[in-house]
Amino acid sequence: MANDLFNSFMTGPDEQGRFGDFGGRFVSETLMPLILSLEEEYEKAKTDDSFWAEMNDLWTHYVGRPSPLYFAERLTDHLGGAKVYMKRDELNHTGAHKINNVLGQIILARRMGKTRIIAETGAGQHGVATATVCAKFGLKCVVYMGAHDVERQAPNVFRMRLLGAEVVPVTSGRGTLKDAMNDALRDWVTNVRDTFYCIGTVAGPHPYPAMVRDFQAIIGKEVREQMDAAEGRLPDTLVAAIGGGSNAMGLFFPFLDDKDVNIIGVEAGGKGVNAKMEHCASLTGGRPGVLHGNRTYLLQDDDGQILEGFSISAGLDYPGIGPEHAWLHEIGRAKYVSITDVEALEAFQLCCTLEGIIPALEPSHALAHVMKLAPTLPKDHIICMNMCGRGDKDIFTVAKALGFEMGNFG
Ligand SMILES: *Cc1c(COP(=O)(O)O)cnc(C)c1O
Repeated sequence: MANDLFNSFMTGPDEQGRFGDFGGRFVSETLMPLILSLEEEYEKAKTDDSFWAEMNDLWTHYVGRPSPLYFAERLTDHLGGAKVYMKRDELNHTGAHKINNVLGQIILARRMGKTRIIAETGAGQHGVATATVCAKFGLKCVVYMGAHDVERQAPNVFRMRLLGAEVVPVTSGRGTLKDAMNDALRDWVTNVRDTFYCIGTVAGPHPYPAMVRDFQAIIGKEVREQMDAAEGRLPDTLVAAIGGGSNAMGLFFPFLDDKDVNIIGVEAGGKGVNAKMEHCASLTGGRPGVLHGNRTYLLQDDDGQILEGFSISAGLDYPGIGPEHAWLHEIGRAKYVSITDVEALEAFQLCCTLEGIIPALEPSHALAHVMKLAPTLPKDHIICMNMCGRGDKDIFTVAKALGFEMGNFG
């Protein structure tokens, strides 16, 4: 692979979409022409200044980029070690990093003359971001969502409907995110002419993992500049939460060739990685297999059946992980750890009272790892974590977990 020649971690994937043994394009013949025309369009857009000019304009005026890099002073004092910075991607329009990627894919769809956008969603954040950008451009939007998730995530379902999207509850399989993604892929092959499939994370067949990473890499690019302005150097350690791995890849990618920068991905440990698969830690608790068109680490039983996983955070319960993470894990460039529900809840509460920021449960996992790490490091060590989403969507879940009855706080 070209990586050996140039000694760079940033040249992948290869022409087949492989990152080492991971990734690729495991799709049916009917899907292949669609994937190839998407790849062709993306390759053109990548080096087209007018494409990036449109992205930058929307990132600035519609999303609110650049998001701030914030020194968490009270948290740093409280932990008593390394300096903790937060990349504030929760301040983006729609409250998370998802819209960075959705904008890129929708602009591509428009260039390809597509008028109907489909998407899968789990917790609903990617569905909301997609419905938002479709409304802005007057595109038809259909969101596939597991029937179980439709019930659990009622506020996001209503948001999508307000934005004019059609939400299709998926009852096949177990009615979760994995099944929603299967149904979206099925829709795509039957509506070839007018439909574009907007994937929400660094998963799916090539070119999606690389393309979504490239759109999310704005996060890490901004951190490089902002950290240089704040500290005059690079951060020492990067920390991000991982569902499929898109916010993490976005933060990590621009730093992959800076060998002195430690990179840590945080998976959802649920009730604990050793407790009968009641977690979503694909790298720390799964093994390689093929799902949704690529080869990566998956949660599976001894027969290769994909397991559902469990986490207090609906946005982290994808049974796989982006193939580039699987590769970074195997070659040792990035380290992957897991954090339990209990630890994430503690970090959530600490962030509220120490920093006045109500974080989403996903980045609360990253923060929980920062809480373990910072006290062990010297005061001149700089940690940057991605605050990839705000917590408004999670307050009911947290209330329940903490034993509060909403409407009865006394
Ligand atoms: C969707 C989501 C995630 C998980 O997705 P990644 O692709 O791993 O980033 C994490 N945090 C928030 C706030 C999300 O909405």
